[in-house]
Amino acid sequence: MKELICIVCPRGCHLQVDEANGCAVFGNGCPRGAAYGKAELTHPTRTVTTTVRCTGARLPRCPVKTAAPVPRESIPAVMAALDGVLVRAPVKPGQVVLADVCGTGVDVIATRAL
Ligand code: SF4
Repeated sequence: MKELICIVCPRGCHLQVDEANGCAVFGNGCPRGAAYGKAELTHPTRTVTTTVRCTGARLPRCPVKTAAPVPRESIPAVMAALDGVLVRAPVKPGQVVLADVCGTGVDVIATRAL
């Protein structure tokens, strides 16, 4: 039995995931916790939030995030790819700054206007 804290909402339910029983989840306060607990043991993913270099704006860096969670093991490669990105102002929230990052099928988007 694996113990986790659900990070889907601020309630932070303490989950128990039974690996020997098809990753059955206990302790979840809602169905989203069950889905999170099972995914965390079978295929963990995370939304990546960071900044990229920006030119032509008052601020030198633009905050960005992945538009959807990416496989956790791909995060170092995603960060390395974003290290080489330079965006030019004006930037709009939701603008794609790097499409299909590292072949994950997920775009990286800006999260503020610059
Ligand atoms: S199980 Fe549901 S209620 Fe509990 S922390 Fe996760 S999302 Fe929130």
